[in-house]
Amino acid sequence: MNVLVTGGAGYIGSHAVRELIRAGHTVTVLDNLSTGHRAAVDSRAHFVQGDTGDAVMVERLLVDRRIEAVLHFAAFIEVGESVQDPDKYYRNNFASPLALLGAMRAADVRKIVFSSTAAVYGNPVRVPIQEDDVRAPINPYGRSKMMTEMAIEDASKAYGLGYAILRYFNVAGASPDGTIGEAHEPESHLIPRILMAAREGRAVGIFGTDYATPDGTCIRDYIHVVDLVNAHILALEKIEEGRDAVYNLGSEKGFSVREVIDACRAATGLDIRAEEHPRRPGDPDRLIASSSRVRALGWEPQYPDMTTIISHAWKWHQTHPRGYKS
Ligand code: UDP
Repeated sequence: MNVLVTGGAGYIGSHAVRELIRAGHTVTVLDNLSTGHRAAVDSRAHFVQGDTGDAVMVERLLVDRRIEAVLHFAAFIEVGESVQDPDKYYRNNFASPLALLGAMRAADVRKIVFSSTAAVYGNPVRVPIQEDDVRAPINPYGRSKMMTEMAIEDASKAYGLGYAILRYFNVAGASPDGTIGEAHEPESHLIPRILMAAREGRAVGIFGTDYATPDGTCIRDYIHVVDLVNAHILALEKIEEGRDAVYNLGSEKGFSVREVIDACRAATGLDIRAEEHPRRPGDPDRLIASSSRVRALGWEPQYPDMTTIISHAWKWHQTHPRGYKS
């Protein structure tokens, strides 16, 4: 299939580009490089620097490249920043995809795979979380993603758009060969922060030790980035017009912050120091996915265990101490 990957220079997008090419698809990447890295884009993809919100340019690109489906990754992802600057999030995570949907309609592109998030559930009513559980996001980031989900669902009903909405839990790891990986600035995610602290001989902060969990630290569900992007390819190939397709992407296993730090100690062989810090605002105690729906689609994780996820991330961090500037 001829596919457009928005945000293909980002962490998840760049892994998706590589796996799509491996699966035989022809890939065009659209990325404005505001947070992405040109060096992360596979050289076999056609790269265009630009904004997903530029409907005129996007429509032309869709037609010129004979695009049949769009995988939309381009988004901002910092919850805290979304509270400080909601406008930035509603523009990039809602208005831009809305423009993209308009361009797709004009160019008669009828399939989209959308990167959504467990943040649409807010504080979950039950764990494991199921896809039909209520959407009640508690910050502008989660709301901007929920609004785009709704726009896609409505476009499906009104115009016959085929879609898959994928709600990510905690994505981690890197390509097993260590050539592409996570390079956010600033880095807020737990596993890269532990590994960066390990490399630099610093202590990592544990944000909150008084949560309602067995060891007092938050529990999250971690999924390897390669397994995550392979679920996109499967979902893309199974899109059918008029069919609801919302999938949680997680492993159904929960790890506390302390357990993740222990796993990083085991995977790196380093004695990583940890310091107890106050809570980070807005963190729910426990987020674990029910992933039975995506498994029913035929998805099976290749790298389900935490040690493998961390070892791949560690390989990337060791070989790229300054990310793509290395
Ligand atoms: N966390 C932490 N120290 C850090 C970074 C994160 O204790 O340096 C905690 C964070 O408060 C949350 C969990 O690790 O409970 C996962 O955070 P992350 O930002 O990786 O993902 P999120 O669950 O927020 O999407």
